[in-house]
Amino acid sequence: MGSILITGGAGFIGSHTCVVLLNAGYNLIIIDNFSNSSPSVISSIAKLAKLEDKITEARLQLVKGDIRDKELVTQIFEIAKRKGTRIIAVIHFAGLKSVHESIQKPLLYWDVNTSGTRKLLEVMNEFSCKVLVFSSSATVYGDPCVIPIDETSPINPINPYGKTKAAVEMLLADISNCQQRTKPFQKSPTDWRIAILRYFNPVGAHPSGEIGEDPKGIPNNLFPLINQVAEGKRDLLHIFGNDWPTIDGTGVRDYIHVMDLAEGHKAALEKLLRSEPQLLTLNLGSGKGHSVLELIHCFEEVTGKKISYQIANRRAGDSAISIASPKLALKYLNWSTQKSLKDICDDGWNWQSKNIYKNKF
Ligand code: NAD
Ligand code: UDP
Repeated sequence: MGSILITGGAGFIGSHTCVVLLNAGYNLIIIDNFSNSSPSVISSIAKLAKLEDKITEARLQLVKGDIRDKELVTQIFEIAKRKGTRIIAVIHFAGLKSVHESIQKPLLYWDVNTSGTRKLLEVMNEFSCKVLVFSSSATVYGDPCVIPIDETSPINPINPYGKTKAAVEMLLADISNCQQRTKPFQKSPTDWRIAILRYFNPVGAHPSGEIGEDPKGIPNNLFPLINQVAEGKRDLLHIFGNDWPTIDGTGVRDYIHVMDLAEGHKAALEKLLRSEPQLLTLNLGSGKGHSVLELIHCFEEVTGKKISYQIANRRAGDSAISIASPKLALKYLNWSTQKSLKDICDDGWNWQSKNIYKNKF
């Protein structure tokens, strides 16, 4: 049986996707440099997938390394081929994801996100492995003109992070040789099968509390910050503006439970494996928007924790509302989100509180 290479498989979305894929019977090889994750996640993934110790090696392999190391990535493909477990597809999560950091370190972001992806694609090409699921982002839409945002909305990234994702999307359209800008589905005249997945706001955690988002350093995103206020790690949350043209003046986003997202990757992978060569560009979102205050109130209700906050100035580069049109993912993948905002708060806090316990004892 072939294997699936998961770059960045120890990270937030990658680890949850690994659990879903292992439970579906796939053999996985993870490459991760642990720049934003920890090796201990691997044993949690194995535990959640109920892998017996002796078969773990065959089902789940870990390579510590950088996707920019072309020699190493080539070796991974070579060894898998020699062992009779040829890599048949890649799910490419590895990358840097902080908008704020990308403004400070544009060269690093272009190197990891864009050059790193190009090198990976070169190795895939050498080994005739031409099935790819790529982590893109709603950030490529910039400040959207129409809500909900569908896949034909203009691409207009407004920060280096978003630009690196848009650049990779263009590269993927080139190797697939399609005019993907105007149509979310294009038959590929080359033999590549590619799914570009534009995530909206991934949050929550595995319901077991065994894996979840574990950002290194100070998080920039709302959900981990709410959790840290609940935990007592921070005194309060700054809400970036209450004068947006929204239901209560605070920013509205489309929050998607990471387990729904993981299922979306499985659906995309399986769609590519059974279809003709194509380039598919899809939003992964719930289609529902929630304001900052709505998320805080839901979190307080579910967890019984008080979230103190202060209204602050708008954050540079923010937009009022970002909500996906999830119709195409339903059409092409038969996928839609199943979990609610309440599930997100429940599972997110379950993970956060178990983590506090782990850190203390
Ligand atoms: P994450 O940081 O938790 O996971 C990324 C993983 O990649 C980490 O384990 C990190 O150690 C690893 N990594 C980073 N650079 C690497 C390199 N050069 N070589 C090997 N491994 C490397 O992030 P995530 O939230 O799981 O995001 C996964 C992907 O989805 C990223 O490409 C990100 O840009 C994209 N995305 C994330 C979000 C979000 O809000 N989480 C939204 C849209 C898109
Ligand atoms: N936000 C906030 N305070 C924070 C972080 C975020 O009020 O400390 C708001 C932000 O303005 C946006 C929403 O929360 O309206 C989601 O922000 P996040 O950074 O999580 O996601 P993104 O802006 O990338 O969609």
